[in-house]
Amino acid sequence: FFIALEGGDGAGKSTQAEALAEWIRAKGHEVVLTREPGATPVGKRLRSILLDVSSAGLSHRAEALLYAADRAEHVDTVVRPALERGAVVISDRYIDSSVAYQGAGRDLSPTEIARINRWATNGLVPHLTVLLDVAPETARERFIEAPDRLESEPAEFHARVRAGFLTLAAADAGRYLVVDAGQEPEAVTTVIRHRLDQVLPL
Ligand code: C5P
Repeated sequence: FFIALEGGDGAGKSTQAEALAEWIRAKGHEVVLTREPGATPVGKRLRSILLDVSSAGLSHRAEALLYAADRAEHVDTVVRPALERGAVVISDRYIDSSVAYQGAGRDLSPTEIARINRWATNGLVPHLTVLLDVAPETARERFIEAPDRLESEPAEFHARVRAGFLTLAAADAGRYLVVDAGQEPEAVTTVIRHRLDQVLPL
């Protein structure tokens, strides 16, 4: 069973991913908690290129392809093997992050970004995508020091990213759970658990 956690910077994805992993493990499942970019040895190198300040001027298409390359390696060497042995995989970010950041956030076509990522992943789609939706201003207030992108990109960029995620969720409502991530983390976890109780094969 493959769960993707999506959302903007500071939405609380990693906190929720850890809480859910613990909860699902307690039910007796093997859980592989993983993330993008940077879950594999090559991915770590790609992550450092992508997040390095000197990459700020990186061509947008090159950036999109490096995220897709990270994802291809991640799916081939981590996600698919885990799913094949019956583990529950929780990925902190997946294709939607590319469609929202490199597509809606930048000037590239979200449809084309989705297309290269379908190829990169050989069509692997999560069973459930949890979108942690929060206003960028709320996310920023949560941090004494804002995460990289909240500082380096203008507010309009984050607004486009947020809208990009919401558009994806609206287009495929059955596969998404959109949660108001402005709530307390415990309340967010409860909403996600409730949905997982209905869909996880136990
Ligand atoms: O989720 P995480 O904090 O590890 O992401 C690292 C940074 O990469 C974030 O600032 C995020 O905005 C950015 N990112 C991106 N495009 C993606 C995925 C992440 O710009 N497809």
